[in-house]
Amino acid sequence: MAYLHALREFTARLLGQVPASCGLCLGSAQGGRLCGYCHRAVTHSMAQSGPRCTVCQLVLNGAGICPDCVQHTPAFDRVIAAFDYAPPGDLLIHRLKVQRQFISAGMLAGLLADAVLASTPALHADAVLVPVPASRAALLRRGFNPAAELARSLARKLRRPCRPELLLRTREGVKQAQLGRIERARSVQALYSCPPRVQGLHIAVVDDVLTTGSTLHSIAKAFKAGGAASVWGLVLARTPYPADGLAAAPGPDPRD
Ligand SMILES: [Zn+2]
Ligand SMILES: [Zn+2]
Repeated sequence: MAYLHALREFTARLLGQVPASCGLCLGSAQGGRLCGYCHRAVTHSMAQSGPRCTVCQLVLNGAGICPDCVQHTPAFDRVIAAFDYAPPGDLLIHRLKVQRQFISAGMLAGLLADAVLASTPALHADAVLVPVPASRAALLRRGFNPAAELARSLARKLRRPCRPELLLRTREGVKQAQLGRIERARSVQALYSCPPRVQGLHIAVVDDVLTTGSTLHSIAKAFKAGGAASVWGLVLARTPYPADGLAAAPGPDPRD
């Protein structure tokens, strides 16, 4: 097994040196990564947009925690995101999820690995990576689970274990993209469960996009109920709120 692992690492390093096309502009780039220009364009807002919520990475007018995380304390501890879900990074997500270019998962996992390695505070040294499970309908539609592909590749890059078996989907649920904010929160209630082997574990949940945080909250609740020591979210992209959307949703806590 050690031999196979070393061979895979060596091949990946070799392929990384081979010139190929940029995943965004199709210009020349090493090993299918983004060219320098596109890399800056995709990651620019995350690096330059100013203060963010220290929990969910939402852009804020000042330092601290966003109104949502103050009013409805999420069950997850922290989020790391590689870029904002905005042009041109959203196109990369579209190509992965809608155009089913699962081959780009490795390049995207590289962007997320960079964000994880640059994170302060750092991801726990013993954190195990767990992808968000796809619904059966999404698996049949795409033929693969984007979060699982990301998690596998990210685990290799970060040299962490990937443990998809630690998170199960208990039912199919409703397609999230068709729902509003509060409906999203309600639709993911008790959608996930974890086996009783997570006691004391530091969990890093891997997903492609964080929008309202309701999915990550629901998953973190299940892990924390199972005794997990911490739950972080590692996502490719963080959806910014609309300009007038910073206020928390009215009414009862939509996450419970
Ligand atoms: Zn490019
Ligand atoms: Zn927040």
